[in-house]
Amino acid sequence: MARTKIILIDAFKLEYLKYAPYLRSLCEKKRHGNLDMGIGHWRGVDILFNGNSEIIGNFCKGSGKLKYFKYFKFLDNLGRFGRFLINVLFNIPRLLKGYEMFKTGKIPVSMLCKLDVSYGKHVGKKSDIDFFYFGELDNLGHKYGTKSIQIIRAIRNIDKKLENMKFDLIFSDHGMIDVEKIISVPITNDCFIDSDMARYWGSEEELDKIRGELPMENGRIIEWDKKYGDLIFLVNTGVLIFPDFWNENIVKGMHGYDGKHQDMKAFYLLNENGNKEDLKVEELHKILNGIRKRR
Ligand SMILES: [Zn+2]
Repeated sequence: MARTKIILIDAFKLEYLKYAPYLRSLCEKKRHGNLDMGIGHWRGVDILFNGNSEIIGNFCKGSGKLKYFKYFKFLDNLGRFGRFLINVLFNIPRLLKGYEMFKTGKIPVSMLCKLDVSYGKHVGKKSDIDFFYFGELDNLGHKYGTKSIQIIRAIRNIDKKLENMKFDLIFSDHGMIDVEKIISVPITNDCFIDSDMARYWGSEEELDKIRGELPMENGRIIEWDKKYGDLIFLVNTGVLIFPDFWNENIVKGMHGYDGKHQDMKAFYLLNENGNKEDLKVEELHKILNGIRKRR
């Protein structure tokens, strides 16, 4: 049985085709277009492979799998060395389970110990799938913005590499937008602050107080599973929350948001004849399932 070949180009959007002559030539004959990934960071990719997903953030409340961190709160005070140890302690159990590893940014240990990670094994790494990942555009887009020379060069490079790669599906997990405005939000003892979303847990009284302090003109409250927050504030597309739990510095590009803005749209290209056709990720999931079954 042949494996389905999938290439993920992180943070690639349709507009970038102008810097990618090879991909553009493929698009002249093949089915491709914008891909609506919906709300959240990892949820769209989860839906593509599994059909549905509730994940809107890397971290949530759960069974307290990171409870062991309560003995390591002192590491918050040890600067870079402390963070290095936090990352090691965080990732060793993940490594042993074959889960995706990642850095913990600036998440305070006092908060980390109350949480679970929302995902384990990479959703795309399945036994019937050859999965290849290009990660450069995400890092460069955050750091330099979406119109930077660094982005253009990296797209050209990826485009060249693609010339020698077979695929059934090329897709991106999200787009990217240049940050237009920076806001700050309250940081409490029981919250998680992403760059585009602030999530709080607490009593009605505490939540009321937070509601009063949130800059409502820059976002809105969304309803979601409470394990992601009793109160979830999602900022408007192009607004950046800083300070957050991830970034050391203010970044120039961001993604996440509610997925509706053109710049947030991801990209897909199928290795079958067709035209430009914008899809929702749920639709692409069905198409991909068909391809996997035919193999
Ligand atoms: Zn990113």
